[in-house]
Amino acid sequence: MKYKVYNVLPEFGTNTYLVWDENSRQAMMIDPAAPDRILLEEIKNLKLDLKYIINTHRHGDHIAGNQLIKDSFPAPLCIHKDDAAKLTDVKLNLSEFWNADIVSPPADVLLEDGNMITLGSYEVIVIHTPGHTQGGICLLVEGLLFSGDSLFSKGIGRTDLPGGNYEMLVSSIKDKLFKLPDETIVLPGHGPETTIKKEKRENPFVGLDARL
Ligand SMILES: [Zn+2]
Ligand SMILES: [Zn+2]
Repeated sequence: MKYKVYNVLPEFGTNTYLVWDENSRQAMMIDPAAPDRILLEEIKNLKLDLKYIINTHRHGDHIAGNQLIKDSFPAPLCIHKDDAAKLTDVKLNLSEFWNADIVSPPADVLLEDGNMITLGSYEVIVIHTPGHTQGGICLLVEGLLFSGDSLFSKGIGRTDLPGGNYEMLVSSIKDKLFKLPDETIVLPGHGPETTIKKEKRENPFVGLDARL
């Protein structure tokens, strides 16, 4: 499994990931953060067969490039069912705070916890991690966890926005993500990569240090 990360929305520092199976070239794009043509060029230059566009959640800084990618490739747009209804709502996806004309096309596929998404010879597992939004998800494939705004390096997602719930986010992380193998590499929606082991120890919200 190969991946590349793009920073097409520097003011928010959102990580957009392109993930693919090196043999079949089948690919998914996670959180196209802005309508930047570099994302289109990369898919073409890497000779990828884009199979899915996946949003880890409905916030504007993760969905603003959906329309551009969908207009160029026949890939279905996928999001958890609990965030899907609000995907196209400018107020609820928060784009009103930074650019009121950002809207997303509606979702084509509604995801649920435990769904498997096939990418060439790999299976991507959908893990529902509500708390930052109701329909936040992480994607697990081959020891890589794309964690959206649920878990960051030494941080967790905001829970003060509509649909946020601190206790729910903490239990999503502790009950689901921290059950993954220690060596799992965590690739967050913002900021640098980390590992499950590191966050279990050092995360000030959910790690060992948080209990001291
Ligand atoms: Zn968010
Ligand atoms: Zn975000």
